[in-house]
Amino acid sequence: KILNPISSSAVTQDLSENVILTTVDDLYNWAKLSSLWPMLYGTACCFIEFAALIGSRFDFDRYGLVPRSSPRQADLIITAGTVTMKMAPALVRLYEEMPEPKYVIAMGACTITGGMFSSDSTTAVRGVDKLIPVDVYIPGCPPRPEAIFDAIIKLRKKVSNESIQERATVLEQTHRYYSTRH
Ligand code: SF4
Repeated sequence: KILNPISSSAVTQDLSENVILTTVDDLYNWAKLSSLWPMLYGTACCFIEFAALIGSRFDFDRYGLVPRSSPRQADLIITAGTVTMKMAPALVRLYEEMPEPKYVIAMGACTITGGMFSSDSTTAVRGVDKLIPVDVYIPGCPPRPEAIFDAIIKLRKKVSNESIQERATVLEQTHRYYSTRH
């Protein structure tokens, strides 16, 4: 469209119809939250509910969620089930192999606290957040697929309000956390 250079109202109207003003943070966050690709990490019965999400009844692809089997292609890990001490190093390694930005959802009582194994088991990790930083928790035994959707929506809200600067701080804290552990 050719504008009349002396008509400022035409310029203003044309700009308001064709130009979107945003911030780098908003643009970056919009891209992130629209394509969260979760890595499948199921170790016990909770994963059955998670697997139901992938089917046509719940159809979680409509949120842009495409399940991945490789940590290098994932930016979200949903830990579903009991995490044992033997599995802990493998989980940490998988998390470390995921590229930034990356997020964690802890699904179910066992993964959040050790669940029914929390009092007398010598092999269950009593909370996956002792190993990796968790963004959203889903309580329940097991949580229903609808609860996983709710967690995804909460995570998307969190991602949409994040700033690149804040994310850099989280990264720094995570690296400091790991350097004290290894
Ligand atoms: Fe199984 Fe319940 Fe533990 Fe989930 S929270 S892994 S359903 S025992």
